[in-house]
Amino acid sequence: MTLRLHDTLSGEKRDFEALEPGVARIYTCGPTVWNLAHIGNFRAFLFYDLLRRHLQLSGFQVVHVMNITDVDDRIIDQADAAGITITEFTGAYEEAFFEDLSRLRAQPVEIYPRATEHVPEMIGLIERLLAEGKAYLADGDVYFRIASFPQYGKLSHLDRSGLRAGSRVASDKYDKESATDFALWKGATPRDERVGAAWDAPFGRGRPGWHIECSAMAMKYLGETLDVHAGGIDLLFPHHENEIAQSEAASGRPFARFWLHSEFVADAAGAKMSKSEGNFTTLRDLLAAGHDPLAVRLLLISNAHYRSKLRVSDEALHAAAEQLRRLRDFDERVRRLEPRPGADDAALYQDALDAAGAYREALDDDLNLPQGMGRVFELVREANAALDAGRVGTAGRRALLDLLAAVDAHLDVLQVPEAELETEVRGLIAEREEARRARDFSRADRIRDDLRERGVLLEDSRDGVRWRLVRSS
Ligand SMILES: [Zn+2]
Repeated sequence: MTLRLHDTLSGEKRDFEALEPGVARIYTCGPTVWNLAHIGNFRAFLFYDLLRRHLQLSGFQVVHVMNITDVDDRIIDQADAAGITITEFTGAYEEAFFEDLSRLRAQPVEIYPRATEHVPEMIGLIERLLAEGKAYLADGDVYFRIASFPQYGKLSHLDRSGLRAGSRVASDKYDKESATDFALWKGATPRDERVGAAWDAPFGRGRPGWHIECSAMAMKYLGETLDVHAGGIDLLFPHHENEIAQSEAASGRPFARFWLHSEFVADAAGAKMSKSEGNFTTLRDLLAAGHDPLAVRLLLISNAHYRSKLRVSDEALHAAAEQLRRLRDFDERVRRLEPRPGADDAALYQDALDAAGAYREALDDDLNLPQGMGRVFELVREANAALDAGRVGTAGRRALLDLLAAVDAHLDVLQVPEAELETEVRGLIAEREEARRARDFSRADRIRDDLRERGVLLEDSRDGVRWRLVRSS
């Protein structure tokens, strides 16, 4: 089965093919670093992570760009209030963002461009639009003329009778009911100058609007047509609609072959989590309350399909922690298993292969991880019963390990954090020493081999056994 992804533009699931065979070029909207990202934001970022991992597992080389928006109205407000520049203001939040991403084990992407470092590219794009009459100057700002792009509204299925051609809005956000020309460039104010948010341009000193940033940076690194453009559903309108309009009006080509949108996170009461409503939770809040970041990861990526709303509550977090424990215990149990010679595990072996196939099919079907995990947990129950009964041999053990590896290639939760690993490895080293003293060398070697499989290398030295991590991720 080939990978199928749901494309918001066509409203259909389609077979995924890259423009250049074997290379998937993806752009995902990154954070605006004006405060700490909340769990709803991280759901989108972990959805991007799931997407890139599955593309890699499907044989694609992934070139993934995620922007850092480090200039916008809110950043300027805050920097000015604090009496510092925007760069001074955003530095700490950018650092916090990367720290949180790494705690959640999101793979680093290939390129993280900062908006403030790509202003010349944005100016270039605006000049192209001005030259073709698709943008115009008004009161020191530059606006995109939506009347010049007849397909405006195609992504969010906008009723074009609501378009107010000729009226303008400088804000980066506006109502779908009153879509108007939007700012590509905003003339510099004394406040912009104070906080270092003003650049020279042929059409006047100023700063870029939010939407033009993504178009300019995406096209710079990925070309005029991307394979996938993804973002949270809240970015659908106006942000992505405007990105399409600017990009396609300038290039005359489709901007993205697939548009993917992840649904929002709801709070315990079912309301959308958002900064403006004040009902948001940050990762740091959850960690301070004692939650394991990997349980948070598991909850955010696997408990609901990415196109369904996900409710985050204490209950849901505890359930995810329990799932994590079950998976880890099972993984540990299979690794430590001494296979029974001649065990009749043919049925279990076949079921493990079937579960692996079903899991893969679920992922290929628009990244349906919850469905795939449902099948995996069924197998875990069955395999635990077989383990209890001593019915697992070498082939069965191998099939279970392969399945766990396939699942963890997306989840990335089975390798325990280093502090916990320390305790565990010390315990296993002691066990191995005991086995050696008892001259049970095959058991001692198995412990060493299992550790090596997990990236822990043991070195026997005169002072005892030392260990180090050799895993690459
Ligand atoms: Zn964007």
